[in-house]
Amino acid sequence: MLLRYPDIFFDFKCLCGGCEDNCCQMGWDIEIDEDTYTYYKGLGTELGRRLCENIYEEDGALYMGQPEGCPFMDGEGLCSVQLECGAEHISEICREHPRFYEWFGDVKEAGLGLCCEEVCRLVMEHEKPILFTEREIDEAADELEFDRELFREVRKLRDRLIDIAQDRGMSISQRMMILAYSTEDIADAVFDRDVKRLAQLSGMLAIDGFRMEIVIHSQQDRHSAPERAMRMLCSIFERMEYMGTLGEIFAKCKGMTDKLEQCRDSFEKAYAPYEHELENILVYFIWRYFIKCTRDLSAAEHIFSALICTAAVRVMFMAEFCERGELPDGKRRQWLVKEFSKEIEYDSDNMDIIYEEIQEGRADLMMLGGLFG
Ligand code: SF4
Repeated sequence: MLLRYPDIFFDFKCLCGGCEDNCCQMGWDIEIDEDTYTYYKGLGTELGRRLCENIYEEDGALYMGQPEGCPFMDGEGLCSVQLECGAEHISEICREHPRFYEWFGDVKEAGLGLCCEEVCRLVMEHEKPILFTEREIDEAADELEFDRELFREVRKLRDRLIDIAQDRGMSISQRMMILAYSTEDIADAVFDRDVKRLAQLSGMLAIDGFRMEIVIHSQQDRHSAPERAMRMLCSIFERMEYMGTLGEIFAKCKGMTDKLEQCRDSFEKAYAPYEHELENILVYFIWRYFIKCTRDLSAAEHIFSALICTAAVRVMFMAEFCERGELPDGKRRQWLVKEFSKEIEYDSDNMDIIYEEIQEGRADLMMLGGLFG
């Protein structure tokens, strides 16, 4: 099996008790794999009994309910199951989180999810472009069927999209416009499983002159006023359900779109040394989600949602800059991104709102053109 991963993948180390927003306290119900459940049942100890008492079955899967956070976390924020039984006996999801994987036969793709504060630090403090690499691992190939030819072209095209996202000869807004303008053609080709067309598009997008042409065209073709585009963007996020304060943040952003537009130039100047943060966030979304269109054929949803999420993060940074007259510091920016990922990216109901907006054509090129044109 071939493992593909970003260069920061093996740098991740859980902060455990030192984490300010420990994922074990988020109240998520945790899926328990069959082997782990069998082990717990056979433990015959007080801990085993308590573990089994907390596990329930739904739709054929096993979960550990923990509305108040994990009941097995000790006073120092450490996992008592791991301490008593060893890391090999905590459930797979507890052992792997926040790592994520996607399997395509004898290829396994990996990454680190932004819902974790340590991952946000690694991603956002990575000043050089994130590189992707691969190595052989000793694991059996996955048996789930997929279109191998389409996978090969989607993967090549994703490399191209990442290359555009990391093209530092252009501003991040210009790079995002190139991605937005290419989406319709890519989506049609993926939907038709037209691998020849995908290879053509990938070739065209490799040419600097072609990229520049899109940028010039997008500047002449600015459909939507920036304030209106920003209001549309904030309305999407304002409608979502949150556990924390993100809803208030987006409601505030929506109420100050004129002011945000006035701040845009000074924000861009102040934020220029940190633009790699948005680049890495955009690359994260493309790496993680675009490959899924091999199976779901929904390329537009995956590219536009990557652009919309990156744009929303930028709006949050801009709003704090506008309000305080200075950039939120690195730690605060990382906190905003972690909250965004936790509350939106990791909440399927909230992500469905974004996908619906894209499918209905309300979150489209017009809106993104207003934001980045
Ligand atoms: S959020 Fe990240 S650093 Fe914090 S406890 Fe979870 S995995 Fe560890």
